Amino acid sequence: MSTQEVKVKVVVRARPLLPKEKLAGEQSCLKIDSPNRIVVGRKESYNFDRVFLPRATQQEVYDYTVKPLLIKCLEGYNVTVFSYGPTGSGKTYTIGGYSSTQGEDERGLIPRVAEDIFIKINEIKGRKISIKISYLEIYKEELRDLLDSSMVKDILIQEDDKGSTIIKNNKEVSCKSAAEMVNLLEEGERNRQIGATSLNEMSSRSHAIYIATLTQTWSNQILNDGDESRMEHTLESKFHFVDLAGSEGPRKMELSAEKMKESIFINSGLSRLSKVITALTDKNSSHVPYRDSKITRILKDSLGGKAQTVMICCINSSSKNMDESLKALNYAARAAKIKNKPVINKDARTVKIEEMESEIKLLKEKLFKQ
Ligand code: ADP
Ligand code: MG
Repeated sequence: MSTQEVKVKVVVRARPLLPKEKLAGEQSCLKIDSPNRIVVGRKESYNFDRVFLPRATQQEVYDYTVKPLLIKCLEGYNVTVFSYGPTGSGKTYTIGGYSSTQGEDERGLIPRVAEDIFIKINEIKGRKISIKISYLEIYKEELRDLLDSSMVKDILIQEDDKGSTIIKNNKEVSCKSAAEMVNLLEEGERNRQIGATSLNEMSSRSHAIYIATLTQTWSNQILNDGDESRMEHTLESKFHFVDLAGSEGPRKMELSAEKMKESIFINSGLSRLSKVITALTDKNSSHVPYRDSKITRILKDSLGGKAQTVMICCINSSSKNMDESLKALNYAARAAKIKNKPVINKDARTVKIEEMESEIKLLKEKLFKQ
């Protein structure tokens, strides 16, 4: 079992100026002079695992961030990709909110991984792999099921005996194809917008979490006291895609009392996330306040835990948004210091059998020594 520390991979994606921004005469305030470095304004420079140019394609972002994680997920690790940044910076575009309705090239990370998962399922012989999808939203510290608007039961966040987070009472849908995975993404996206007065309204104030659970089953032959029998194995791992709420602070002038309350709630989620990041990167801190908000409870394993994680910090190139971009990059630079200790998930039976096997080996060694 590997308990080596692995850094949270942090990448920056600067989106291009949109046609209407160009028309309005907006200018870019960014310079990306190497694949790892970004310069904002005249002097602020930052280094990250990777900085994508505004013209970087969805495929390039996928190949660097998610493709290697899919291999890890199939090996049995839980993996997480999350997008962070101000509203309008390209978080939803990157994660995958746009799919079949747009051109092939515009598909985000989820539609791309969906396709690769099913290619792998057909390639891998001797194992049965099944996929279940859940899609949730945290809005004003309340969990909503984006695949089940009836919401008969409260969704619960609990911990298993190993301290890992489990979500209960949410709808999980089995998928037999990439197209089904994408349909669920679109269904959730439609539910995310119910009640929103504009497209960005809800998504800028809520966190969306799309989870693909991969269950692999296989069996092998074992010899037991000269008798042959088959032993069944199960390996379950999760792929999380988290589209976080907009990182911008409230513009006080624009806020009604209700909006102000909402913004305190969102920012409580993101500021709690910030506190978790601080605690994880401060050697003197002994307590990490995961329990203080729903998003930090859900991301517990992804930050400082057993999962493998990539953070995609999205920023807008325009000089009009320079302050927000700088804030987001500072946040990302702190997150880049977090180290995880990835561990493969194993079912209790496999763990027990491995323990027994090593015990037998030890006993045999002792026996032969006598
Ligand atoms: P967010 O989810 O961060 O609020 P969106 O993903 O909705 O932002 O993106 C805002 C707008 O910018 C959308 O119209 C989207 O199509 C466009 N956009 C974002 N990233 C890119 C990109 N890399 N290339 C082209 N257009 C982009
Ligand atoms: Mg969005």
